[in-house]
Amino acid sequence: MSQTGALYKAEAVAGYADVPLEEKQRLFDEVKADMRFPDYIYGCYECGICVAVCPSARFYDFSPRRIAQAVAREDAELVYQQMQEDIWECSQCFSCLRCPRGNNPGGIITIMREVSINNGLASAREALEGYTRIIYKIMSTGTQVSPDMLQPDAFPDWGPEVKDVSDKLELWRRALPPETHHTTTTGWEVSDKTLVELYLIWHKTGALKMIEEVDEGLHMILEEVMEERLEEEGIEV
Ligand code: SF4
Ligand code: SF4
Repeated sequence: MSQTGALYKAEAVAGYADVPLEEKQRLFDEVKADMRFPDYIYGCYECGICVAVCPSARFYDFSPRRIAQAVAREDAELVYQQMQEDIWECSQCFSCLRCPRGNNPGGIITIMREVSINNGLASAREALEGYTRIIYKIMSTGTQVSPDMLQPDAFPDWGPEVKDVSDKLELWRRALPPETHHTTTTGWEVSDKTLVELYLIWHKTGALKMIEEVDEGLHMILEEVMEERLEEEGIEV
């Protein structure tokens, strides 16, 4: 490594000096304690196959190999830095499962993201900031982004096409064969039973708790919507 390279590396790793090493280690221990962890990392050959197949590595300063290496070497400092920066560049496509060592860098990143969210790290808050509307829609209605969210002001990069779609939305939706799709406020109609089951799953698996860590306002609204619905069904959570 050149002198400049070594200096850059030292500076990069020395990042987040205001965070005590004990805290970084605590977060890494949380990553390692996940029951999936032992199946996701078996050491790393540094062969770079995961980097060659990774779409995010092509467009960003990002490398699944660096993640696998930091984790395999138990470098809590570097893992912390990656949790604050790199992990949000992964598109979770899992092409890196081609790893000849049997590693799952995308899976490790999933765990690191979950730990970042559960601990309310700044990177998690920032990464999820733009998704408030989408998370609200999915969790309150049980379906994906709704057609009525396709508005020109929300999707300016779609050009004039999006105005055409939003103007004729009602008609175009009615032209779809499945009747459950004849709605514009949800992707499709979800039965009450399914919705209640989803609410219970989100309560019991801690998904709601995760949202509380990154967005208290959104959490309050979602809790209200879900509790009201569960009360109507006579279910206590
Ligand atoms: S899951 Fe993430 S790290 Fe793995 S190949 Fe896809 S984008 Fe890259
Ligand atoms: S493919 Fe596997 S062994 Fe090769 S660099 Fe990536 S994680 Fe390491």
